[in-house]
Amino acid sequence: MQQFKIALIGNPNVGKSTIFNLLTNLRQHTGNWTGKTVISKRGKFKIGKYNFEVTDLPGTYSLKPKSKDEIVACNYILEENLDAIVIILDKNCIARNLLLALQIMRHKKNIILCLNFADETKNIFVDKNKLKKILNVPIVETSAKNNSGLNILRYEILKTCLGDYTSNKKLKLPPQTEKLSEIADIIENLTVKRKFKRKPKNLDCIITHKFFALPLMFSLLMVVFWITIFGANYFSDFLIKIFSYGEIFLRQLFVFFNASKFLNGMLIDGMYRTLAWVVAVMLPPMAIFFPLFTILEDFGLLPRIAFNLDGMFKKFGTHGKQSLTMCMGFGCNAAGIISCRIIDSKREKLIAILTNNFVPCNGRFPGLIILASMLVSGKFISLKTALIISMIIIFSIILTLIVSKILSQTILKGAPSFFILELPPYRKPKFSQILIRTLFDKTFFVLLRAIAVAIPAGIFIWLSANLKLGSLTIMQNLINFLEPLGKIMHLDGTILSAFLLGMPANEIVFPLIIMGYEKNCALTPIENFSNIKEILISNGWQLRTIISTIIFYLSHFPCTTTLLTIKKETGSFKWTAIAFILPVLLGFLLCILF
Ligand code: GDP
Repeated sequence: MQQFKIALIGNPNVGKSTIFNLLTNLRQHTGNWTGKTVISKRGKFKIGKYNFEVTDLPGTYSLKPKSKDEIVACNYILEENLDAIVIILDKNCIARNLLLALQIMRHKKNIILCLNFADETKNIFVDKNKLKKILNVPIVETSAKNNSGLNILRYEILKTCLGDYTSNKKLKLPPQTEKLSEIADIIENLTVKRKFKRKPKNLDCIITHKFFALPLMFSLLMVVFWITIFGANYFSDFLIKIFSYGEIFLRQLFVFFNASKFLNGMLIDGMYRTLAWVVAVMLPPMAIFFPLFTILEDFGLLPRIAFNLDGMFKKFGTHGKQSLTMCMGFGCNAAGIISCRIIDSKREKLIAILTNNFVPCNGRFPGLIILASMLVSGKFISLKTALIISMIIIFSIILTLIVSKILSQTILKGAPSFFILELPPYRKPKFSQILIRTLFDKTFFVLLRAIAVAIPAGIFIWLSANLKLGSLTIMQNLINFLEPLGKIMHLDGTILSAFLLGMPANEIVFPLIIMGYEKNCALTPIENFSNIKEILISNGWQLRTIISTIIFYLSHFPCTTTLLTIKKETGSFKWTAIAFILPVLLGFLLCILF
């Protein structure tokens, strides 16, 4: 059966990914800011007996691309043989969006115009018949948010692919009109009648205010962390209980089957407990932090953060958009590094890639929460813990800026470039979609990855803690080997070994530290979670150990996935090696200096 090939293209933030998701029933990342789609996404769907393959391209303003993601979009549209091209426009600003559409129409056939955001633009009247006559292409109005107009779009796609619009070729416009912008203006005057004026964005007066912006952002950060820590505490307790029952059940099962001591140790003490730690400690903060972050993203706050921080980033010789790639890094550093494609300048992109690891990813949060709570009363839920976590985040941002400055004055010298960042309108987030999107896609995706790493890591670590090399176990040998270096850094061999063995996934570093201290070198049972403080203190932890561990948490080598992503994005072993060495050296230096 024939498969039609179609593509979605348009300016950034016009709803391409939302429409792509509706057509394909996939859940690609959407968000209210320019540049979140940096790679093309492909999906399939069916209309009746016909099959379609659809590509969602990164947003671009024109066919004269500037950044790598825009080049991808333009090359694809111009070079690929497509059965239909759906150009998506934001009905709020048709004239500006039409520039790209008109450029594409000069070169390509089989075009469908899709005017999205119909729900937001009830006050804008577009004479579709007139527009259709001028442009000679089918026009569909949609509201992707409410899933309305999508069936008409499917119908037009089908008709176009089946060759119903044979005359759909060239624009019927006066030949003397040269400039596309003028054409767009003509079209807008002909077709759009604004019935009312749009409301001014009053909120921006405060959110991007010269003085209020930074304190406001800090307060917001604190609230987000407080809700995360507060909620995660209850959720964790609940999961810990379930896992301890699970352990009792497993032990009974092993007794029933007369399993050997070795199997008992490897599968329950090693694999099951590592798994229980990862899930019970990691899932709760993630399940709360991701949706909160997505609400802010959908509301339109991320580009405003970039706007507020732009001046500061410039002063440090780097790009304002780096604040956006850092925001992505909070979720996952590998994702943050891929998002660096939104930065056009090669030099500034490299700076953003090399420094992304300084923002703690989701895998490092639970460990940091435990460490922060140790600095206060030992309660995981206190407001003070949220304050300390916020300060740790600010410290990580300062670290990023300082390293960026050093890089921009040494190996990556050059003048900062300028950029235009569009501030999207504030939009009411759709909570049901956010929950589905963040829980089922992001949270479970990251969790599954962590579990996939934790299972073999748990077995490997248990083996290294129980198999002997000489008179000591492999792990004890490693701990002893790293002990002198650890001591110089106000840490110890166990902590450094945990970082090293936790390289496949940051989330297992903290459980590994605890495991290293246990006499029988088995991971501590998960119900002892609240006794962590005692375990650590009895193993010689002092205030400086906690602070040094926090520093090394923020500044050590990236995890394996992140390193692979850096290699892929830079295409160079040299930069990957620098990305590895730089934070280790800095972490080492900071711990000693501190
Ligand atoms: P893309 O950059 O073109 O892929 O845009 P997205 O699909 O990520 O959408 C950008 C933002 O606009 C997201 O916050 C969407 O939820 C929102 N959005 C998309 N389509 C509509 C729509 O028709 N109406 C409204 N109100 N919001 C929409």
